[in-house]
Amino acid sequence: MDAVNREQLESACGLVDEAQRIVVLTGAGISTDSGIPDFRGPNGVWTKNPAAEKASNISYYLAEPEVRRAAWQSRLEASAWSAEPNRGHLAVVDLERSGRLHALITQNIDGLHQRAGIDPDLVIEVHGTIWYSRCWECGDRRLMEEMLQRVRNGEPDPACELCGGIVKSDTISFGQSLIPEVIDRAMKVSEQADVLVAIGSTLSVYPVANCVPLAKSRGAKVVIVNAEPTEMDDIADVVLRGSIGEILPQLFSPGSNTRPNQ
Ligand code: NAD
Repeated sequence: MDAVNREQLESACGLVDEAQRIVVLTGAGISTDSGIPDFRGPNGVWTKNPAAEKASNISYYLAEPEVRRAAWQSRLEASAWSAEPNRGHLAVVDLERSGRLHALITQNIDGLHQRAGIDPDLVIEVHGTIWYSRCWECGDRRLMEEMLQRVRNGEPDPACELCGGIVKSDTISFGQSLIPEVIDRAMKVSEQADVLVAIGSTLSVYPVANCVPLAKSRGAKVVIVNAEPTEMDDIADVVLRGSIGEILPQLFSPGSNTRPNQ
């Protein structure tokens, strides 16, 4: 990855330093350094295997038992179970400790922000979490580990123990509606931000991507951190192109000796 532009980094640090209500919006790119692939980056799951997109679609999941069996097998082997938070997640914790993190909206389902130590009350998981399962019929929610144990014990597509319904991870698949209170909260905090920093997302998944123009329309400055162009670069005040693990400690960690003005 190219080294980040110093002038742009200084401008972004200035915006972050002056802000009192910072909203951070993260996507899959913040977790790739923890060994969890994104979907659309150069090594993304869908970039390498376009057929994998099918398993993420709720209509295929509900209609096709083979899709569910394959999904349970890939859940068993998911890299997220053993992944550790990386420098990017830890830098967001430094920002929280400065008292100016208003909210953390994440599209990620891996739970790594909470594992890094962020106050869970500040985290808005718009696409849910893989750490829990949910029955599609009755809504019963329980720890994912309980379901994975049933798969290991020989049930390739374990049904809900309460109602017999189809069970999936407690995540929002493509084609599935978001939880209204959760996405509403994401929009509300975006309206309240004085700076919104979008990290590691192509900003192509809606409606969460709308947080960016919404914040901008309410007067927030927008900073984008991503290795590749995003759909919102044209409305950003600063675009930092480069490695998240290198950029975030400089942007969010006060007193870090890697900051441009230290
Ligand atoms: P995306 O896959 O569309 O885009 C990720 C972006 O991050 C890419 O542009 C890529 O170039 C960039 N990137 C990857 N690693 C980077 C790094 N180290 N430094 C800088 N940039 C880096 O991701 P998205 O916009 O979040 O959309 C994917 C959807 O799939 C989300 O809605 C999310 O729910 C889900 N998802 C989640 C996870 C996870 O929880 N870790 C992983 C894959 C997908």
